[in-house]
Amino acid sequence: MTGRHLFTRKITIQYPEEKTPKSPRFRGMHALRRYPNGEERCIACKLCEAVCPALAITIDSEERADGTRRTTRYDIDMFKCIYCGFCEEACPVDSIVETDIHEFHYENRGDNILTKEMLLAIGDEYEKRIAESRQADSAYR
Ligand code: SF4
Ligand code: SF4
Repeated sequence: MTGRHLFTRKITIQYPEEKTPKSPRFRGMHALRRYPNGEERCIACKLCEAVCPALAITIDSEERADGTRRTTRYDIDMFKCIYCGFCEEACPVDSIVETDIHEFHYENRGDNILTKEMLLAIGDEYEKRIAESRQADSAYR
């Protein structure tokens, strides 16, 4: 241990009332985002599924009447996920993202599977925070 560390004043954070700041790149619970008009961003290209090193993402898709492709199933197994962020990096339309939500737990078998509906609901609820984090992060890119 160096002298600098020896004499640095220790700080106790009274979690959960107090929290340390998080990076805008923090990788927590996932979300699927929509465009402002409500249309889901995801075009079912499956790049996220292909790049995921943990094989945590499962996608089924079909073509809609208007000729565009959308997912019929988008599951993430959060027990398999290693929060690497590759899915977010791979997505061409900023659809799948990792939010800064890190305080979550599971109580029942199967709760670890986040479905498309659940991921879209998280995206709807946290879109403002997601957009702000991405804006803050873009300053460093
Ligand atoms: S963060 Fe990594 S491990 Fe988790 S779903 Fe995305 S690509 Fe897979
Ligand atoms: S979330 Fe993005 S990368 Fe994954 S299938 Fe949808 S559009 Fe493709």
